[in-house]
Amino acid sequence: MSAAAPGDIPSLDRLLNHDGYAALLERHGRSQVVAVLREQLQGLRERALAGGLALDELQAGVLAAATAQALAARNAPRLTAVFNLTGTVLHTNLGRALLPDEAVDSVLRALTRPANLEFDLETGARGDRDDLIEDLLCELTGAEAATVVNNNAAAVLLMLNALADRREVIVSRGELVEIGGAFRIPDIMKRAGARLVEVGTTNRTHAADYANAIGPRTAMLMKVHCSNYAVTGFTKSVSVAEVAAMAHAQGLPATVDLGSGTLLDLTQWGLPREDTVRETIAAGADLVTFSGDKLLGGPQAGLLVGRADLIRKIKKNPLKRALRVGKLTLAALEPVLALYRAPDKLAERLTTLRLLTRPQRQMQAQAERLRAAMQHAVGPGFGVEGVAMFSQIGSGALPIDQLPSFGLAIRYLGRGRGRAGRHLERLQASLRALPRPVIGRIDDDVFWLDLRCLEARDEAEFAAQLTEPLA
Ligand SMILES: *Cc1c(COP(=O)(O)O)cnc(C)c1O
Repeated sequence: MSAAAPGDIPSLDRLLNHDGYAALLERHGRSQVVAVLREQLQGLRERALAGGLALDELQAGVLAAATAQALAARNAPRLTAVFNLTGTVLHTNLGRALLPDEAVDSVLRALTRPANLEFDLETGARGDRDDLIEDLLCELTGAEAATVVNNNAAAVLLMLNALADRREVIVSRGELVEIGGAFRIPDIMKRAGARLVEVGTTNRTHAADYANAIGPRTAMLMKVHCSNYAVTGFTKSVSVAEVAAMAHAQGLPATVDLGSGTLLDLTQWGLPREDTVRETIAAGADLVTFSGDKLLGGPQAGLLVGRADLIRKIKKNPLKRALRVGKLTLAALEPVLALYRAPDKLAERLTTLRLLTRPQRQMQAQAERLRAAMQHAVGPGFGVEGVAMFSQIGSGALPIDQLPSFGLAIRYLGRGRGRAGRHLERLQASLRALPRPVIGRIDDDVFWLDLRCLEARDEAEFAAQLTEPLA
């Protein structure tokens, strides 16, 4: 190997005229290629000065390959598909609900063609974007009116500001929840300009607690779904029907933040019971808010349904304009809602429900097909077994209920059990470094890969990443 001097390094202009750069210039544009190459040449100069650069490294072809690699790394998308093998179906950090094909096609059209977003095709006059989904939401929930904003946190904020600005909102202490760190009922209340009146205790709230708190400044009685925790033991809460009756007796509205909000009774698919939006409205709620991308299985959105006069007031609030949804959300939401018109087909067509209802034997068969490949990929230092496990729904719905599933359990086989954690973390990191990262979870010195969310169409892509031993 002969060492190169700084003077041996070809000039930027000469390199750019070399054949190896033509395709890079075409693909990435001149300014970007120049910037990357300049940085590369600076690095080479420093190494040449330190005496650590070989002449061979200065061939134009070799330099072009290095430039191509740097450009590819720089332009690799930051948002990328992963495999969600965490066992949590609606995983907030992994993007919650996956859209069914109907919604994907609709979004694609909305992305590439003009659409009647706010244009009434009958009259040719300006339209209201909410009209696109309002009828459907009313049909599916029994509500008089509906509107949609960016997410459920926005829906709650908007509802409180529109209906309770500088007035009081009565909420049970057992329902002052925090969801995902940044959404806390008391904080949202403050930001909305409403004054929170807490009633009852953490574990028990009685009807009289609400009744005694109602005063001249009361704007509404509000119930919040305890999405991510459960109070068990000596507990008491007041039903929507009772809260609504007390509110109505004083001419006040009763509102419910349902969180996940399901449109159909999930027990028909063997899933745990949740109050539906329709039942909540029927019980007397004047306004219900819920998420679009939790159990509903649609895009990120916050849905508000209920009494027409309240929805009208909400739509007139300036925050509605700031929190409104874009056309892509509406394009995805409409076909997802439409799927609910055929409940008997829903478990097949709605991705979220399909994942939640996958029978354990399907995942077990997958585990049998994939075990050997995974064992080969992780190497002899680890043992891979197919095992039964439990998935959870996630996103605050039904927090304590678990679904029988199946997957792969990976254990460290080396000596020193105390070190297993570190080895498993390294393994976890190498699965995260795959072209399509694989996300599992470590618990009890075992790395768990729940196969519930690995649908048949993704299995080949998953297996293809396991043909080489993991780095
Ligand atoms: C999830 C949840 C929210 C927040 O909904 P986003 O759509 O994530 O903004 C609010 N309230 C409850 C009860 C929830 O479960």
